[in-house]
Amino acid sequence: MEDTTGKPRLVDSHAHLDMPEFGADRADAVRRAFAAGVVAILCPADLTRPGSLPAIASLAADFPPIMAAAGVHAHQAKELTPDHIRELQGLASRGAIRAVGEIGLDYHYDFSPPDLQREALRRQLAFAEEAGLPVILHSRLAGADIIASVDGERFRHAGILHCFTEDWETARAMVERGFFVSFSGILTFPKADKLREVAARLPLDRLLVETDSPYLAPVPYRGAGRRNEPAFVVETARMLAGIRGLSLDDLAEATTRNFAGLFPFEKTGGGC
Ligand SMILES: [Zn+2]
Ligand SMILES: [Zn+2]
Repeated sequence: MEDTTGKPRLVDSHAHLDMPEFGADRADAVRRAFAAGVVAILCPADLTRPGSLPAIASLAADFPPIMAAAGVHAHQAKELTPDHIRELQGLASRGAIRAVGEIGLDYHYDFSPPDLQREALRRQLAFAEEAGLPVILHSRLAGADIIASVDGERFRHAGILHCFTEDWETARAMVERGFFVSFSGILTFPKADKLREVAARLPLDRLLVETDSPYLAPVPYRGAGRRNEPAFVVETARMLAGIRGLSLDDLAEATTRNFAGLFPFEKTGGGC
């Protein structure tokens, strides 16, 4: 077992370990994360992609505390059917998922028409409200409509606004609604000054860090053209610690405590 003494205890609040980029070394990526001090990873499966949920369910079975979530992403919103909602009901009733997500709105890529994105979000928020589950929200150029959707469904179980790239007003409004704001490797990018300003202003007890692996590798891995993986969450945490004037250990402790408040987990995990 790798000695993780002295390593910051971090949570990667968002990693797509189901993606083909992790086909060959999925379990090794998890082991490297644990060796780097990561103590939990939240993995959102997409119900429209065959193999996505099974890959994450098997990781979660092999490596607690890897946690599974499931939903239909904004990009695939046009594919959402009542069967997906029934599948979510089955997963929730078996305790197989900790959250509904990722779900949301992406007006940058527009892979699904915006009205269908809003409808898919609305239906999945309604399901999560009924099931009493938190949601993992994706928002790209869509902050106002995300807030309107959460309010429209009178959604009360909060969750995570992941890979945050929106403005301060959106961050503040979501925090007021009980949400956590999760920062990805984008926070380390040279041009992300606006994002760093938001990260400096938010309450410490609302902050999370994530990789969004295999995408968005943080500096210095980004420059090297590397695939992102959960072990690299430490670089985003290091940047966030600097922004907040905290030590990496204190920032890790705060974000891990925040995550555990939303998704309690057994903290003896890690190592392998
Ligand atoms: Zn996303
Ligand atoms: Zn994602």
